[in-house]
Amino acid sequence: MMNKTMKRAKALAQERLAGKHQAEKCIACNGSGHYDHDASPVCSSCGGTGKQKKQS
Ligand SMILES: [Zn+2]
Repeated sequence: MMNKTMKRAKALAQERLAGKHQAEKCIACNGSGHYDHDASPVCSSCGGTGKQKKQS
């Protein structure tokens, strides 16, 4: 019988593999969506979302 922790860990791993967890912070802007705090253009790496695009 599989315990709850193992079951949850497995489910999370499968979700990650399926690409459901894409909340990694953009390394170019550190998750802010902008390179700087003031009057800066949106981060071109993430398009201003602050999240890394899925690597393909
Ligand atoms: Zn960014």
